[in-house]
Amino acid sequence: MRVRLTESYVRSGRNKFEISGPPSALRHTPCSCIVLNKIRNERVYKMIEGSCCCGAVKFQLASEPSMMGTCHCSRCRKVGASSIVFVKREDLTWVKGKDQVGLYQPEAPYKYGRCFCKVCGTSLGEILSQEDSFPIAANALDTEIGLRNQFHEFVSEKPAWYEICDDAPQSEGHPS
Ligand SMILES: [Zn+2]
Repeated sequence: MRVRLTESYVRSGRNKFEISGPPSALRHTPCSCIVLNKIRNERVYKMIEGSCCCGAVKFQLASEPSMMGTCHCSRCRKVGASSIVFVKREDLTWVKGKDQVGLYQPEAPYKYGRCFCKVCGTSLGEILSQEDSFPIAANALDTEIGLRNQFHEFVSEKPAWYEICDDAPQSEGHPS
């Protein structure tokens, strides 16, 4: 009983593989389980690509971010990272340019650092955070994701020229 990836599978990344042998053997052969799990995982967990404007920084996410929100505070607005998505640190893989990421650490009482590409200035949220989960700038994602904005925070600091055009819940400060 053998499972073999065809050349076209490798080239196209699509689910083309050949199985020889009776189907009943499939469940009990460790090597085929490994191959089939690999195929299944690739299909379910499509890598999400992210990068900065100039391409110096590139990263991948192994699964979809868990949440999207928009912060209207003056600080997020100035660094150009108002729409954020929350990612798990274990899902983040650096492709290149981690050493090109700068960190602006604000003075107290503010505690969250803001990361950016040192070459082009693209805002990258808290991508260097050591927390298990942290927000990164949604703008940095290249791959289309299924999430839509789920909240607006610090609406009290929103400039009048920015009009909220969705029905997501709004809060004056942090969402309670
Ligand atoms: Zn850059």
